[in-house]
Amino acid sequence: MASNVTFDVRFSTWREDAACLGVVEDVSFFPDPEDLSAIAQAKAICASCPVASECLTWAIETNQSEGIWGGHTPKERRSIRRRWIEEIERAS
Ligand code: SF4
Repeated sequence: MASNVTFDVRFSTWREDAACLGVVEDVSFFPDPEDLSAIAQAKAICASCPVASECLTWAIETNQSEGIWGGHTPKERRSIRRRWIEEIERAS
């Protein structure tokens, strides 16, 4: 993961290629955590996104606590972030 993190997503260059930009359908990337259908809809768009990896990395590095980023829910990201921090701690 990159060490130079931009915390405001509006200034992240990868966002220009995001599949969710311009999505006019009724798709929420901040769905109710219990709404599995809405989560699946957002994840389906992320699945075709050319910058999903960059998006996920950004969300983990900046510890985004809500929303679907890089095709992952907050709970899924917490697990990835925990492993990422453990790796950093092991390496130091
Ligand atoms: S991975 Fe999903 S949330 Fe992230 S930029 Fe792509 S479509 Fe948007």
